[in-house]
Amino acid sequence: MSATRLILLGPPGAGKGTQALRLVEALGIPQISTGDMLRSAVAADTPVGREAKGYMDAGKLVPDRVVVGVAQERLAEPDARTGFILDGFPRTVGQAEALDEMLPALGCRLERCIVLAVSEAVLIERLLKRAQIEGRTDDNEASIRTRMVEYREKTAPLIDYYRGEGIAAEVDGLGSVEEVGDRIAAALA
Ligand code: ADP
Repeated sequence: MSATRLILLGPPGAGKGTQALRLVEALGIPQISTGDMLRSAVAADTPVGREAKGYMDAGKLVPDRVVVGVAQERLAEPDARTGFILDGFPRTVGQAEALDEMLPALGCRLERCIVLAVSEAVLIERLLKRAQIEGRTDDNEASIRTRMVEYREKTAPLIDYYRGEGIAAEVDGLGSVEEVGDRIAAALA
């Protein structure tokens, strides 16, 4: 048996997206990536996208009010009923509190928060490489540094938040995709 209401937490470049896709295949539950949803909103030029774009390009977090709305709508969709992998949400204590408030109405609670740990030097190297391959507009060095600071100041406190809820599991994010995936599977068992 594996937990199926999951959060993947970790700094930009830690491998959350890659590992989320493996979990989608293994567990048959959807990945909910607020970063992907916001990028789609920007591409479709929706009101949410127009509000988010400036923050994203600068590497700043999009305001909680915007992101919480996006996540809440997505979590209410039928495919999330049997479980979900939250990738990149929550990213602030305010978002975590909003999530805790919305889950009872959906009839579930969080089961595990996987914290992917990777050193900052490795992260920056990975993100610069990804910038060359994917050409994401926020993968330039200035934005990457800002995203690291945002992570340290606003997102890292969530590790203690979920330790407090008794669901945090720290996983070494260094190694091959398979090695890290096996560690995550062990943490979910
Ligand atoms: P990464 O983890 O590599 O930074 P994401 O795709 O998760 O990439 O996020 C890209 C950008 O989208 C973030 O820098 C931020 O501007 C915005 N974003 C995504 N999720 C959130 C969130 N939960 N809260 C605030 N901003 C978010």
